[in-house]
Amino acid sequence: MPVLEVENLKKHFPVQRGLLRRTVAKVKAVDGVSFSIRPGETLCLVGESGCGKSTVGKLALRLIEPTEGSIRIGGEEVTRLSGGEMRAYRRRIQMVFQDPYASLNPRLKAGQIVGEPLENYSDASGSEQEQTIAALFEKVGLRPDAMRRYPFEFSGGQRQRLGIARALALNPAVIVADEPVSALDVSVQAQVLNLLMDLQEELGLAYLFVSHDLGVVEHIGHRIAVMYLGQIVELADKDALFADPQHPYTQALISAAPLPDPRARRERIVLEGDVPSPMRPPSGCRFHTRCPFSFDRCFVEEPRLKPSREDGRLVACHLRD
Ligand code: SF4
Repeated sequence: MPVLEVENLKKHFPVQRGLLRRTVAKVKAVDGVSFSIRPGETLCLVGESGCGKSTVGKLALRLIEPTEGSIRIGGEEVTRLSGGEMRAYRRRIQMVFQDPYASLNPRLKAGQIVGEPLENYSDASGSEQEQTIAALFEKVGLRPDAMRRYPFEFSGGQRQRLGIARALALNPAVIVADEPVSALDVSVQAQVLNLLMDLQEELGLAYLFVSHDLGVVEHIGHRIAVMYLGQIVELADKDALFADPQHPYTQALISAAPLPDPRARRERIVLEGDVPSPMRPPSGCRFHTRCPFSFDRCFVEEPRLKPSREDGRLVACHLRD
C-alpha cells in the first residue's frame, strides 16, 4: 500500500495588481499532478527550474495549501486536517532542506537543533530526549559529543547530516528532500546520498526527492517523474527511463546530462526557445512550442498521462498513443 498518494494536485498562485489587489491572472505552478510512493521507495521529481517540482514538495508537506486535489498519507486525506490533527501529520512527513548553511539556526548547539522536533512534538523527558538525540547523531555518522558544537564548526556535509538527523527525530514515514545535495561539493554529495539510501533500507523510509540533477537522481531514485510546466510528462522506473526515454522532453533532458565516463558521447537534443510562462501555458500539449516532433493534434489537444508500455510507465504524448 502506498504511504503517500497525491491525486490531481493543483496550485494556482493568483497574480494581483492595483490598489484593490485584483486578481488579474494565475500562475499554474502545479496543474494536475498525481503519483504515489511506497514505503522504502524513492520517487524523484525532475525538471528545469520553475517546472513546479519544489511546489509539489511544499504541498505534500502542507507548507502551502493546494488549490485543488488530494494528498493521502497512510490512506488518510490530509488536505482537510485541522490544527490538532496536523500535529500528527507533521510527525509522519518531514523535510530535508536544500541549503544546510541557511537551514540551521547558528545560535543553537547541534544537539538543540536535532532535538527541536522532540521538544515541540514529543512528551519524552529531558534525559530520554538526550538519549534519542545521541542515537540520531550516531545514525547519521556523527559523534554524539558533537551535540555541544555550533553549526559553524561543521563542514557542509556534516551540516546536512544534522539536517537529516533532525528530519528523523520523530520517526517519519516520508521525507521530502528538496535538492538536498546541490549546495555540497561533488565529493561530499555521494556520501550524503549513500547515507540517505542506507537510512531508507534500515528504516523503510519513503523519499519524495526533488532535483534538477539527473546524475543525482540516477544514483538515488527508484522511479522518476519528469515535470514540465506544472505537469508530469513521464513517470517510469529509473532504469527504463534512462535506457529508453519516451517523452520528447525526457529525451532532451537525458541527452543533455553529463555521462559518467567523460570519453563517452551521445547525441545532444537541443531544445529551441524558452520555457513558456506558467501564467499562459501553451494550448494543447504544453511542450509543443519546443517539441521537435509536434504535429497538428499537439496544438489543440492536451495529451493525458497514460500507460504507454507494458513496463508500467506513464507518458503524456500523442506520439505514444
Ligand atoms: Fe511533442 Fe506532440 Fe508529444 Fe507534445 S504531444 S511531446 S508536442 S509530439
